[in-house]
Amino acid sequence: MQIIDGKSLAKQTQDRVASSVERLKQEKNIVPGLAVILVGDDPASHAYVKMKAKACESVGFYAITHSMPDTISQDEIIATIEMINANPRIDGILVQLPLPAHIDTEKILEIIDPKKDVDGFHPYNVGRLVTNLDSFVPCTPLGVMRMFEKYEIEIKGKDVCVVGASNIVGKPMASLLLNSDATVTLTHIHTKDLKAHTSRADIVIVGVGRPNLITEDMVKDRAVVIDIGINRLESGKLVGDVDFDAVKDKCSFITPVPGGAGPMTIAMLLENTLKSAMNREI
Ligand code: NAD
Repeated sequence: MQIIDGKSLAKQTQDRVASSVERLKQEKNIVPGLAVILVGDDPASHAYVKMKAKACESVGFYAITHSMPDTISQDEIIATIEMINANPRIDGILVQLPLPAHIDTEKILEIIDPKKDVDGFHPYNVGRLVTNLDSFVPCTPLGVMRMFEKYEIEIKGKDVCVVGASNIVGKPMASLLLNSDATVTLTHIHTKDLKAHTSRADIVIVGVGRPNLITEDMVKDRAVVIDIGINRLESGKLVGDVDFDAVKDKCSFITPVPGGAGPMTIAMLLENTLKSAMNREI
């Protein structure tokens, strides 16, 4: 069994992005810029935004965070996004989710200029991903694909079971895998017999948000197991959706939580923002 070291892969990516930023500054006088919109005071959202801002700083990006109270109106958020769309110093716009209940998330995501949609959530980019055209790809599934590449884990022709079918994790993950010629089963809360699907998969990818959802009996021998879930236990410990200690000895590869998919997500945000800056029309 090999543990996939997302933290170290993310560090390598970060170093590569930092060198490219340096070159971009010298050759074209471009500093990649990322704007984050943070609404409300959810502690997890604040923690994620802080990590993203720190990563941006470390690679030399220009980064700004627009913090707004959760009483803000939808129109005010839209006006802010329109202002950032028009700001030539900003290459990437990220709206930290979830938004408060009175805000229409889909409407907000559609306001983002697709050329600055570094989270890949705009329907334009979603459509391009599904049709296998170049697009901004959501960072978490993109990070998982990068882990497969780096660890030379074959995707083509493999049976892959994705557990969790959200717009930001499971669905784009399934599209990326399909684009890489895997046979994909996408499961969710209404799936009748989850174990029947996971236990015959060569690769199991889980992003649900339920500790110990995937137990040892649900995974076949030598399977690759990727855990995207992030759960904070009452004890304060951070765990994924996989019963890591019981499952790990059965796998060929497994990602830990923390230190697996999480750091790669932030690394892919840096890559997507760099890609956008490189496409800047000057
Ligand atoms: P979500 O609530 O939007 O979606 C959860 C999905 O899981 C849904 O499709 C739902 O049908 C499915 N589901 C729920 N219970 C299930 C069950 N018992 N069996 C099978 N499927 C079930 O959540 P999300 O935003 O996609 O996030 C999922 C998890 O991934 C969370 O733990 C979140 O913190 C984590 N996450 C991690 C990263 C990262 O950077 N590592 C990024 C995004 C999300």
